Amino acid sequence: MYQIVSGIVLNKTNYSEYDKIVNFYTLQLGKIRVLFKGVNKLTAKLISFTELATEAELQLVKLKSVDYMFKCTGGKVVNYNNVLRESIEIYLYTCKILEIVDKLTLELFSDEKKYFLLKRVLEVLPVCDKNNYDILFLAFVYRFIKLCGYAPKLNRCVRCDNKIGEEQYFDLTSGVVCSGCKKDNDIKISLNTTKTIQKFYKLNAEEVCKFRIEKELLEEIKEVTFLYLQNYVYKPLLTYSL
Ligand SMILES: [Zn+2]
Repeated sequence: MYQIVSGIVLNKTNYSEYDKIVNFYTLQLGKIRVLFKGVNKLTAKLISFTELATEAELQLVKLKSVDYMFKCTGGKVVNYNNVLRESIEIYLYTCKILEIVDKLTLELFSDEKKYFLLKRVLEVLPVCDKNNYDILFLAFVYRFIKLCGYAPKLNRCVRCDNKIGEEQYFDLTSGVVCSGCKKDNDIKISLNTTKTIQKFYKLNAEEVCKFRIEKELLEEIKEVTFLYLQNYVYKPLLTYSL
């Protein structure tokens, strides 16, 4: 018995001399690990299915020997997404996006919204203003962690639930903190950081690609977001700070 699923390549590793294991985010099954047998041979037909960001329709057989692993027996490439490999910068941001999805998701928890958000950001990235790659990436991160149920609380203090004044802090596990509830581990953030992150949820992709943020503010958001993400990734993020 085989099944057909639509998926996007998140990550690939060599499994043995000729075989690869590829992580896909799929519409039907969420994240899955798929074994491609003999794909490292020069004549392998399925090699094109294993390139990062490739979107494919996969014909899968579930393996009995390994938990939650599938073997690809055929299928077709829906979109090679070659445009994402045409410039080093676009490719770098592609890798950053794919790593976020890979490291923040568990296997076999499907979520249509996550699949379509990933598909959409990969469509928008190559046509986005070059200066806005970071902004597009961060907006994606916030939308994605919201779907994961990990979004930080930004509108009120996470400890006393009061509205936040001009002076605000950030608890790196949960969200903003008022000056009255501040503890030693909280970091000071600017009011604009919270306002900007809240905008990421409201703007559509085209607006995000034109959205202007001052460099200093952007750096603060990048830093806070990186520290915040550490609580939710199951392995270190390798591409975030590149
Ligand atoms: Zn408080």
